[in-house]
Amino acid sequence: MRLLRGGGRSGLLPSIARGTRMSEFRVTKPHMLRESKAYASQTLMGGLSGFESPIGLDRKDRLDALKTGDIGFVHSWDINTSVDGPGTRMTVFMSGCPLRCQYCQNPDTWKMRDGQPVYLDAMIKKVERYKDLFQLTGGGITFSGGESMQQPRFVTRVFRAAKEMGVHTCLDTSGFLGKNYTDEDIRDIDLCLLDVKSGDEETYRRVTGGTLQPTIDFGKRLSAQGVKIWIRFVLVPGLTDSEENVENVARICEQFGDSVEHIDVLGFHQLGRPKWHELRIPYPLEDAKGPSAGLKGRVAGQFKAHGFVVY
Ligand code: SF4
Repeated sequence: MRLLRGGGRSGLLPSIARGTRMSEFRVTKPHMLRESKAYASQTLMGGLSGFESPIGLDRKDRLDALKTGDIGFVHSWDINTSVDGPGTRMTVFMSGCPLRCQYCQNPDTWKMRDGQPVYLDAMIKKVERYKDLFQLTGGGITFSGGESMQQPRFVTRVFRAAKEMGVHTCLDTSGFLGKNYTDEDIRDIDLCLLDVKSGDEETYRRVTGGTLQPTIDFGKRLSAQGVKIWIRFVLVPGLTDSEENVENVARICEQFGDSVEHIDVLGFHQLGRPKWHELRIPYPLEDAKGPSAGLKGRVAGQFKAHGFVVY
């Protein structure tokens, strides 16, 4: 995941031809709305520009709608090129994450309740709006976070609708919540940006607070279904950089076979530090430095020795 500035920029691009009819995923029902004077002016700006948010829902309706995927809690979205998958993409950053990575750049996405609820059909309309642009550039939609697998029904229903429109789909995830996805859900993923954050359970727990095995299990399921995988590994000196840890990450990636197209070695940086300060969360990497060119070269060499293409 990259550093988010909360700047959904729907105005950056010209309107794209709409033409295509809406799919049948129009599921928001009028009874879900409550009378609210605020409702008329609830279109969200900034990182959620262009979305009508169901702020009129009471708590129970929200929970029900979340379970079915009728709404999703979203931090922000943007349009980018060659950052979160091929071509020009719409990337949606979902709120909520069960991990607590020491190097997280976006701790403001950790709590789902800090996101804004967005209707499923509003999201699908947005995808449809950019459909022609995606086809022209070989792009599509990417779900990132936070951890988008925390809201599986919303994301998988948007992906299903995207596939019906012929739009490329990409999931950016740690795989930690892979159990939330059925095999049928996985079939609608064209590409997965899979974070393998460390190569053994002990290091993984130290880095993320979570467990590694779910990532391995999810990667194997992706591979079994022929889903393409771009591995992401964040290189933090003193935390993830030991030769043994990198070797273990490489061996895990080997288990995903030909699905792995390349490995991105991402050097740690401090751009996320101000958010930790702003949120008053103790920041464990306060004084950490990014990797030297020599260290990056050594790690890339280790992955290459296992036959991987490394960026
Ligand atoms: S998986 Fe880690 S880096 Fe990504 S949002 Fe969660 S805590 Fe942050």
